Amino acid sequence: MEPVLTDYHLHLRPDEPDTTPERYFTAENVERYREAAAAAGIDELGVSEHVYRFTQALALWDHPFWREQAVDDLDAYCEFVQGAGLRLGVECDFVPGAEEATAELLAARPFDYVVGAVHFVGERAVDHEGWDVWEGGGDADEVWRRYFEALADCARSGLFDILAHPDLVKVWGRGRPLPERDPRHYYEPAVAAIAESGVAVEVSTAGLRKPVGELYPAPEFAAMCAEADVPFALSSDAHLPEQVGYVYERALELLEEIGVGEICVFEGRRRALAPLPARVGKGS
Ligand SMILES: [Zn+2]
Ligand SMILES: [Zn+2]
Repeated sequence: MEPVLTDYHLHLRPDEPDTTPERYFTAENVERYREAAAAAGIDELGVSEHVYRFTQALALWDHPFWREQAVDDLDAYCEFVQGAGLRLGVECDFVPGAEEATAELLAARPFDYVVGAVHFVGERAVDHEGWDVWEGGGDADEVWRRYFEALADCARSGLFDILAHPDLVKVWGRGRPLPERDPRHYYEPAVAAIAESGVAVEVSTAGLRKPVGELYPAPEFAAMCAEADVPFALSSDAHLPEQVGYVYERALELLEEIGVGEICVFEGRRRALAPLPARVGKGS
């Protein structure tokens, strides 16, 4: 297989609630992403819009945030992305107890891959100020334990092909309490579940744009995954064209450091591994 760079976790539409699909699911907007990808040397692009932006997601979870966000039609989205010649994905939250409804929603549509995500622990979000899990304080060790437990359940559910931003709980960096225990204590059971499930883990440069200022996952987490032969996917989680392939050098550097030379490519929810291109300007 030819060397390839992918960006599979893209949003065509920014997170702001007043962004209409008519403005962002357009050929012109796709063209902006393609141009940015070409400039960044990225060969394969896939879109994975948040499942909760679609009315069909209310079959999975009746949460006030989802009710407010669920406006678009999932089938119209699938048709648009496929028609635009992009890989079709979706970023789907793992909702405990809704495994069957989730499986049905996903199986009914022609996805190339599904990015599984944990944004919420219980009713509260780790990355959303409006639903902040840290509101009114919060025991960091307890929040981290619950987050990584949810991530392990997300992996074990077998519903997803890629795990998004696997240590998202750190998104606020020093802006929120940090656990007292060594984070590896929390990574370990999650990595065991990931390895057992066969799901791929995303290296995402999105964390570098967030208060934490780090890649997802942390180098220790990534090294543990590599040690357990977990396959990796590569993404920027771009919400704007200029974020496509966002500082990929850092992601490629990390993969090289942990001895990973291949990334996942997907079609029709079948996975293959493709070699990463040689890094430009890495010396030697
Ligand atoms: Zn996400
Ligand atoms: Zn995302």
